[in-house]
Amino acid sequence: MSVTAFSYTSFAQQVIFGAGSLARLGEAVARLGWQRVLLCTSGSAQRNGHAAQVQEALGTRLVASYDGVQPHVQDFQVAEALTLAEARQIDAVIGLGGGSPIGMAKAVSRALEEKQTNKPAPATSPITQPPIPVCAIPTTYAGSEMTAVYGITHHTEGTARKVTVNDPRIAPKLVLYDPRLTLALPPELTASSGMNALAHCVEGVYSITRHPLSTAAALEGLRAMVRALPRCYDSPNEIEARTEMQLGSHLAGLALASVAMGLHHGLCHVLGGTVGVPHGIANAIVLPHVMRFNADVCTPELAQVAEAMGIPRSSRDDDTLALEAANSMLELVAELHLPMRLRDVGVKENDLPHLAELAAQSRTVQNNPKPIESAAQIKGLLREMW
Ligand code: NAD
Repeated sequence: MSVTAFSYTSFAQQVIFGAGSLARLGEAVARLGWQRVLLCTSGSAQRNGHAAQVQEALGTRLVASYDGVQPHVQDFQVAEALTLAEARQIDAVIGLGGGSPIGMAKAVSRALEEKQTNKPAPATSPITQPPIPVCAIPTTYAGSEMTAVYGITHHTEGTARKVTVNDPRIAPKLVLYDPRLTLALPPELTASSGMNALAHCVEGVYSITRHPLSTAAALEGLRAMVRALPRCYDSPNEIEARTEMQLGSHLAGLALASVAMGLHHGLCHVLGGTVGVPHGIANAIVLPHVMRFNADVCTPELAQVAEAMGIPRSSRDDDTLALEAANSMLELVAELHLPMRLRDVGVKENDLPHLAELAAQSRTVQNNPKPIESAAQIKGLLREMW
């Protein structure tokens, strides 16, 4: 049944999209009045010259760089970047790279406010402005640039646990997409972060909080990315394919930003935060299984996903289409030569019960449209993926 009542939050963001748009960064930052900017990046942005391009665009407005951002936003790195941000008295922070540097920029924005006010960041309404605004320049398809969320990995007593933080103020105020920055993205990262973006669309389409705009964005994102992703994988330097892929990932991020994700995302967070599975790889392994798991409850929505993926309806009913969407996603994962089983990415069989227990406590997992009854049910699903 189509949605007849809904509620969602959107954010005031300036989005600049297009090949060569990095050249507009300086003018955009000047217009926003940011004078003392911190840049958060990972090693790849240093190696392929993107950090230098940002430096050139910002000139003296760039007062500090935190260069070595590791995956999954590590708490000790946030503390280091915070020290730098305080010492240099920054008034804005840029995340350049994948979801991890962008998440780091959001974490620094929030941590700095807490430090400056000496109290926990308050609950805020969507229209409250941030003390330290965030700018995001994505170089993968992960989608964090559009959202008010980051995951931070806390290390306590020898265990790691990734926790999600949600605050409307950390939604990047300036988002600059330059598909040229994705030309250097290696095939495996292209494929795996592309799977992440596809997952945003799939979970967006059947989300328990979906609304007309999120569904439209998610379906259009799927159409674009199913076409573009194999082309980007096979011909990384093709700017048209890279542009279509980044457009799809923008639409995926737009959907992600305003709806609740479900079981798939909850499992990927646990796999990343607890056993270190790279986020995109976790997405590739988990997505087809969760689509099949959800198919009996989300049948019409997954049938829409199938059609957006290019599967002709012909005389098929929704039940058939929903399962074909899951099969087609699995075929895409194989075509992109991504890992297909948890055992292939270092997860041990005896990790599964603990992972299932953690996942069962996740709010994201509890938001799955098909109710999750127990940790044992999740363990069974993880066993299938293993
Ligand atoms: P990532 O940011 O962890 O980066 C993975 C690797 O890709 C790094 O080694 C990086 O150096 C390299 N890389 C990035 N861009 C590159 C380029 N153009 N060329 C060459 N190498 C490049 O990976 P990701 O998949 O972008 O992001 C995953 C993280 O983001 C996870 O922690 C995930 O939880 C988070 N995430 C958050 C949201 C959100 O809404 N907050 C959404 C999606 C993902």
